[in-house]
Amino acid sequence: VQTSPARASARSTREWQAADAAHFLHPFTDHGALAKKGARIVTRAENIYIWDSEGHKILDAMSGLWCVNTGYGQQSLVDAAARQMQELPFYNAFFQTSTPPAIELAELLAQVSPPQFKHVFFTSSGSEGNDTVVRMVRRYWDLQGQPERHVIIGRRNGYHGSTMAGASLGGMSGMHAQGGLPIPGIVHIEQPHWYLHGRPAGQSRDEFGITAARWLEEAILAVGPSKVAAFIGEPVQGAGGVIVPPSTYWPEIQRICDKYGILLVSDEVICGFGRTGQWFGGETMGTRPDLMTFAKGVTSGYVPLGGVLVGERVANALIEAGTDFEHGFTYSGHPVACAVALANIRLIQRLNLVEHVRQDVGPYLAERFAELSAHPLVGETQTCGLMGAVQLVKDKASGAPFASELSVGMVCRGHCFGNGLIMRAVGDRMIIAPPLVISRGQIDELMQLIKRCLDLTLDDLRQRGWF
Ligand code: PMP
Repeated sequence: VQTSPARASARSTREWQAADAAHFLHPFTDHGALAKKGARIVTRAENIYIWDSEGHKILDAMSGLWCVNTGYGQQSLVDAAARQMQELPFYNAFFQTSTPPAIELAELLAQVSPPQFKHVFFTSSGSEGNDTVVRMVRRYWDLQGQPERHVIIGRRNGYHGSTMAGASLGGMSGMHAQGGLPIPGIVHIEQPHWYLHGRPAGQSRDEFGITAARWLEEAILAVGPSKVAAFIGEPVQGAGGVIVPPSTYWPEIQRICDKYGILLVSDEVICGFGRTGQWFGGETMGTRPDLMTFAKGVTSGYVPLGGVLVGERVANALIEAGTDFEHGFTYSGHPVACAVALANIRLIQRLNLVEHVRQDVGPYLAERFAELSAHPLVGETQTCGLMGAVQLVKDKASGAPFASELSVGMVCRGHCFGNGLIMRAVGDRMIIAPPLVISRGQIDELMQLIKRCLDLTLDDLRQRGWF
């Protein structure tokens, strides 16, 4: 492991924190509270570990923000960026021009994705990808002579980004409460969260999966089938708390989309590039999407890149339209981002990471995670590939939750941070999505940390008289 680069040690932690508080408005943050507390300054990383400015080594069980699929410190990605920056740091894809990295990446994405995908539209983020989805879906139906088909159905507690359209497609009530969202023409159905909705109703997971999928049909009938353009969902909800739907859910969603001829959009921003043990989450869930949004894992987060894989049905309509699709970004097909993505996907192939997740570390994580169910605080655990969730509850037998104002998830997250583990809290659901390069030995290390942090949380709650 290298020593800290000069820049990190150029200032003390307190100096970094003061400058941070003085000038940097962080995403999804209470800025006043952070300024008082001081940010954790992360200075370097290697493999599945990060280090902060105080020299603490931390196991990053969230892959940064669900993106560092190939782990930190991959030299082939660094080299690809440096080479491309020297040769051609930028050229656009407007005005009938193209660049070799963008062309090669489009070709490689067509190879690794399901057969209906031969075309790609590039953006710089997942949010821009989902904004592109909204415009592309509506353009598609206009071209079909059905301009009244503009309503897109998403899900409560789904996450599709933070731009106006991305946040509207998503179903995060806190986001909708700020800035006049959702934009018109977007409707939400309830999420397929068995622990929250199916278990209290006494349904088995599989029965609940069908019930939850039929909420889509109810919404289509309420809106009017001739007005519905598309349904969008994450194969496994990520930011919503790693909610793995029952296996009956997605096939039923697919059947309903087919029945009414509406487009199915799979948001693969988290699930893409091996996370679920297939290249894309839709393959794990048994869907045939018309569009797939991607970002994050396409470059392992080393540089920003996102986009939309466009299935034949929509691509052919756009190609045969005879007029421009009036949409695009300066950085659509950015050559450096595309060169890094090419190196990253080739690395995923070279290291057999998709098989590694499907056949080895995914099943091993599932086996080890199931052990957590015995813990007094744990109501349920779920995994899918290399994503996992642990639901903390006040009463195991009834599944009764803690009062939300106690913020038990945040208490647990505090113990994780303090003990060398990054685990995220979504309410009282503790979640992980470690880099795909993780080994069985490192999963053992991760599990030891999780168990320790759950025990510390339990002691803490008992001391506070909350448990
Ligand atoms: N879709 C999903 C499923 C995501 O998880 C995210 C980001 N967490 C986005 C879209 C938005 O991506 P970005 O932050 O790159 O705009």
